[in-house]
Amino acid sequence: DRLIAASEQSQDSSQDHAIRPKRLADYRGQPQVREQMEIFIEAARGRKEALDHTLIFGPPGLGKTTLANIIASEMGVSIKSTSGPVLEKAGDLAAMLTNLDEGDVLFIDEIHRLNPAVEEVLYPAMEDYQLDIMIGEGPAARSIKLDLPPFTLVGATTRAGMLTAPLRDRFGIVQRLEFYSIADLTWIVSRSAGLLDIPMEPGGAEEIARRSRGTPRIANRLLRRVRDFAEVKSDGCITRELADMALNLLNVDTHGLDHMDRRLLLAMMEKFAGGPVGVDSLSAAISEARDTIEEVLEPYLIQQGFMMRTARGRQVTELAWQHFGLRQPE
Ligand code: ADP
Repeated sequence: DRLIAASEQSQDSSQDHAIRPKRLADYRGQPQVREQMEIFIEAARGRKEALDHTLIFGPPGLGKTTLANIIASEMGVSIKSTSGPVLEKAGDLAAMLTNLDEGDVLFIDEIHRLNPAVEEVLYPAMEDYQLDIMIGEGPAARSIKLDLPPFTLVGATTRAGMLTAPLRDRFGIVQRLEFYSIADLTWIVSRSAGLLDIPMEPGGAEEIARRSRGTPRIANRLLRRVRDFAEVKSDGCITRELADMALNLLNVDTHGLDHMDRRLLLAMMEKFAGGPVGVDSLSAAISEARDTIEEVLEPYLIQQGFMMRTARGRQVTELAWQHFGLRQPE
């Protein structure tokens, strides 16, 4: 488990209910998303209708689940949550759908991982609030049709490209979440520290924010780890110096890179003169699966401008040479 992994870890959940924003006003950053959702929600409420089906996509840890919950609370309705891989059979989805009250939010995380048979059931439900399902098998099989109350499907996905076109087309609202700025993350870390009663100076919040890879989930996790250092090594207050010392000891560098990121970049620079180098050669050089490089390591490094993808392979940038204090070969 990497400390700077964006996916949810068991250590994240313990205090999450205390710091997860519950209202749109506390949902920091994502200005376009917030502004649009405010209008869509107010309009739907004014018409006393269910909000249009909403698709939220973006990398892990940026606030998709949080936004789904906020939508429900701002609409004044309940939310029932599930996820693509959990809904194995059409009946599993039917059970969720028939359990909804008027206007409720049905939240399906990882919606790109829905089984096609389950997805078929979702289409008429989204379009006409109709449940149309076969029960039984063989000669005794019957098709059942049921009216559903109007509801809002909120789907979340990290891989918008993996959604089938018919599913994507059924969402009236599509929101894309972006990585957060350091200023927004600083605000988020300060808010979390306040809610958790952690004494912190503004410089401490900024230092944690800077090293959180644009991701609130990571920022909150680093905050908890840095707090441990503050309590044991100091008087409990998180200053910039303390955050810097703690994060160095935790192996998270000034750009939020950890040992795995550094190993990849260093291999490219030291073994392949900075590239271009094919991903399979890299995979062999650092003994990591190709998928790990493409899906876990590379996206943040590319987004931060440490490396790029070219037609001839991966290549490090000037920033990477500078960050490691190495000289680019002529
Ligand atoms: P995702 O579903 O995209 O993986 P989550 O909604 O679970 O991400 O968010 C991860 C954590 O980050 C949550 O615990 C929440 O406290 C925090 N968070 C996410 N977005 C925001 C935001 N806009 N403002 C403040 N905190 C946020």
